[in-house]
Amino acid sequence: MGEICLLLTCRNRNIADDHSVFNKPVLYHTVLLLLETHAPMTDKKQLLCALPKIDEALAGLVGRTGSIPAQLIKLAVRHCIDSERQRILTDDKDCSLLTREQWDERLLEAITLKNQMNLRRVINGTGVVIHTNLGRSVLSAPIVDALQQAGAHYTNLEFDLSSGKRGSRYSLVEDIICDLTGAEAALVVNNNAAAVLLTLDTLANGREVIVSRGQLVEIGGSFRIPDVIAKSGAHLVEVGATNRTHLADYEKAITNETALLLKVHTSNFRIIGFTSEVSAEELVALGQVKGLPVMEDLGSGSLVDLSSFGLPQEPTVQQIVKAGVDVITFSGDKLLGGPQAGLIVGKKEFIDRIKRNPLNRALRIDKFTLASLEAVLRYYYDLDQVLTRIPTLWMLTQPVDLIKRRARRLMRRVHQTTQAVCSIDLLPTMSRVGGGAMPEHGLSSWAVTFKPVHMPVSAMEKGLRKLPIPIIGRIEDDSLLLDMRTVNDNEIPELAASLITFLRGSELP
Ligand SMILES: *Cc1c(COP(=O)(O)O)cnc(C)c1O
Repeated sequence: MGEICLLLTCRNRNIADDHSVFNKPVLYHTVLLLLETHAPMTDKKQLLCALPKIDEALAGLVGRTGSIPAQLIKLAVRHCIDSERQRILTDDKDCSLLTREQWDERLLEAITLKNQMNLRRVINGTGVVIHTNLGRSVLSAPIVDALQQAGAHYTNLEFDLSSGKRGSRYSLVEDIICDLTGAEAALVVNNNAAAVLLTLDTLANGREVIVSRGQLVEIGGSFRIPDVIAKSGAHLVEVGATNRTHLADYEKAITNETALLLKVHTSNFRIIGFTSEVSAEELVALGQVKGLPVMEDLGSGSLVDLSSFGLPQEPTVQQIVKAGVDVITFSGDKLLGGPQAGLIVGKKEFIDRIKRNPLNRALRIDKFTLASLEAVLRYYYDLDQVLTRIPTLWMLTQPVDLIKRRARRLMRRVHQTTQAVCSIDLLPTMSRVGGGAMPEHGLSSWAVTFKPVHMPVSAMEKGLRKLPIPIIGRIEDDSLLLDMRTVNDNEIPELAASLITFLRGSELP
């Protein structure tokens, strides 16, 4: 039978090519029918010959693709057929012949997918508040409004409204950052990695930077302190041991070539046990004696002390400024709760030098960052309100009872209509701060857990990721967990509706 199929499939090609005997789609369908009714085909040549031609495939989709641009449809179809061809050539284990209907479904799915925005909203059920893979900090509606204003209209981005002359984009937030941190001067660049690079390049290019061995961290996304120092043109001088570094270690390492003493927040790891670190104050005192500036990369850099909410005590930016550190860098979208940005604060003489560095121009922030950063920073003038106004801070500090109530609300909505297909429960769990902040610290929280009847939990996890608004959860003990700390109250109705549709669909074969 295989031979007949092969012959027919290949004849189809020749005949169709010279347009003489048969109409191509008719022959194609005949062959498909013949093939489907007989033994499964695994021969690569047969599979390749049976791939639809692009024009045929497009003809089959007419009237089913709405207003999707023809160019996009064609590219999606070509890509789909090409990748199936590639799959047949490289791995024939799972390849089988698709019917015309199956091809149409597959192509429509590919077209719809290609027509969707690649950057999409998701629902974060992971309980990781500052989730770098999910975009770190979420902005509140008034802050988004500031973004919208900056995008939809002309702005005074670099125009001084009082003089009518060219202005500086940095001046728009510098005074506010100085008010809030107590620093003499400030600058904002693309992100904290850029802030560290720019500062090192300005203050230590071609000279030595002294860092404790316990602080040579790697942050996610390939940011490594030794590599950034090398890229800035500075030379790394490591001092101390992994677990203990003393002031004398820094002192002994200082030479004529030393440009900077650098302290780095260990962010995403902790050294515990027999440890010792030199404080910012001690390092500043040493720097003053030796005439050397001190820099601290604070990583998350919070402007509020969150320890009264059960989070670990971390020095605030204000405290580090007060300790006399000359230049401090931190992220805009970690504990600050704003847009992606790198804030550099400190003594005016150093900040002025950093501002004049030509590299600064390459790392500058855009009007959207400035608009949202300014709006976020303004909330910090009112410390009574800041925790409820900035989503990142609210998610970190909200009472656990509220999280439990939210979990119950979701469960009640989903449970009734899906009890036949999924067992649903409430479970106390632990959320994470994320963003490399407070790595060992769990936050008490509540999750809704799902154990589907008709599919493995891994299939549910995958299925939820593919929804129009993807839902991201985590699997624990053979259940899917949605931690309600990182889900907003107003997301519950649509989250519930999506879950119900998905779970009901799981019943179908
Ligand atoms: C997160 C972090 C960085 C990188 O900050 P981005 O804003 O992600 O560029 C640098 N240093 C430390 C200590 C960090 O925690």
